[in-house]
Amino acid sequence: MPTPLSDFGEFALIDHLHKDYKTKNASTLLGIGDDAAVLKSLPSNEVELVTTDLLLEGIHFDLTYTPLKHLGYKAIAVNLSDIYAMNGTPQQVTVSLGISSKFSVEQIEELYQGIYLACDRYHVDLVGGDTSASLNGLMISITCLGHTPHDKVVYRSGAKVNDLICVSGNLGAAYMGLMLLEREKKVFLETNSPYFEPSFKGKEYIIERQLKPEPRADIIQSLANAGMQPTSMMDISDGLSSELLHIAKSSQVGIAVYEDRLPIDHETLAMAEELNLNPLTVALNGGEDYELLLTLPLEDFDRIPQIQDLHIIGKVTTKEEGNLIITSSDSAIELVAQGWNAASALKAQQ
Ligand SMILES: [Mg+2]
Repeated sequence: MPTPLSDFGEFALIDHLHKDYKTKNASTLLGIGDDAAVLKSLPSNEVELVTTDLLLEGIHFDLTYTPLKHLGYKAIAVNLSDIYAMNGTPQQVTVSLGISSKFSVEQIEELYQGIYLACDRYHVDLVGGDTSASLNGLMISITCLGHTPHDKVVYRSGAKVNDLICVSGNLGAAYMGLMLLEREKKVFLETNSPYFEPSFKGKEYIIERQLKPEPRADIIQSLANAGMQPTSMMDISDGLSSELLHIAKSSQVGIAVYEDRLPIDHETLAMAEELNLNPLTVALNGGEDYELLLTLPLEDFDRIPQIQDLHIIGKVTTKEEGNLIITSSDSAIELVAQGWNAASALKAQQ
């Protein structure tokens, strides 16, 4: 029998969830267990990075097809991704939850299993948070703290004309995963059968990309090892074109990216074809890939292949040249911000 949350008071629940948890980072002097966490001050050459994210059930995630463990993992992963995108090292997170009475203690434990898994994998300490009853659904608010030497911070605003534009991994997969999950949910609701089996065969990768994204700590590490520092950087949460336009605007430059350079996985291509979507649109506008978009000086051209899974997709031009995608047939199309967001993507499917 699931344990109702009302069997625990707030403090008992926090104790229950965190009783075996031990912090790992030297900068965490005290995590959970007092009125506030106690963190070591940074050396004078370092800066603190802070990012926060709010996730609401029905807006940012759908529990029909999102296992709670995956949700916990993803909630942490997307915050870490923002710290890496500043060229920083994440250190601590706080997690606050609003929980309605439809959830059991076991379900909240499942959510925390994912949270702890991501914290362990990326060497981050959970140092606090809050839990409260909510009237309906689940609300997750996460704040992540990180640091980096101040001369290593990478802003959106540093791209220079002639820099190379690079992305890690591949594009559009998480969006195709979401479309597939939404499609199967619709079929499930229509068939209304407890024996319904969704058809995910051969599409495991795009589903994983949607449900369990990994922040690209490895790319940040490889760049540091190679002694290469991006001139500008962002993580791709709202879609490549939207992020490219942010960099162009902040850096006061233009953008030229090449269609035939965009890395797209074969499962993404197959799903786009199945859904009658143009793969270029999917790669440009699909959100939630949590890959890194960055610019590097032209001098680094020969060294870029040393960074595994980093691809050159275009170059930085002057502001006057505008923001363009050069298609495979060599025509130039203006990049437009079709800023992807979870709310409109979920709505479009209803
Ligand atoms: Mg970001």
